[in-house]
Amino acid sequence: MENCIFCKIINKEIPCYKIYEDEYTLAFLDIAKDVDGHTLVIPKKHCTNILDADEETINHLMHTIQLVSNHYINKCGYAGINILNNNNACAEQSVMHLHFHIIPRNENDQIYVYPKFPGAKYPIEDTLKKLKIN
Ligand code: 5GP
Ligand code: ZN
Repeated sequence: MENCIFCKIINKEIPCYKIYEDEYTLAFLDIAKDVDGHTLVIPKKHCTNILDADEETINHLMHTIQLVSNHYINKCGYAGINILNNNNACAEQSVMHLHFHIIPRNENDQIYVYPKFPGAKYPIEDTLKKLKIN
């Protein structure tokens, strides 16, 4: 996809700090420098996010997310990982090419990734009525 920064990385038009690559996916370090080991995992096939991705693409992506995560824990000394994913601008997606963030974690690392939510506005039964499938 033209003008997609992650497609440009896939096509080697711009460089990346590559962690892993296979036929369908690429994992590389995020340039944010916000936390050591911040990794992005992307499909080589362009899609905007999880909402328009086909099942095969998601399966390949999940396979790589698990592979990289297990590598970080089994070979790189980390004790856990967070997996984060934003979909659409209102949910803080800034790059419109599907990607998952992997944040490697250790005990007492002083990293807090779970958002501080404002508190639910509605009774849980009303929310269930609105959201239940079927
Ligand atoms: P989002 O907010 O869309 O979930 O995350 C996009 C991520 O892409 C951000 O963490 C940002 O630092 C990262 N990013 C944006 N441009 C580049 C780039 O050119 N190279 C790399 N490695 N990461 C990028
Ligand atoms: Zn793209």
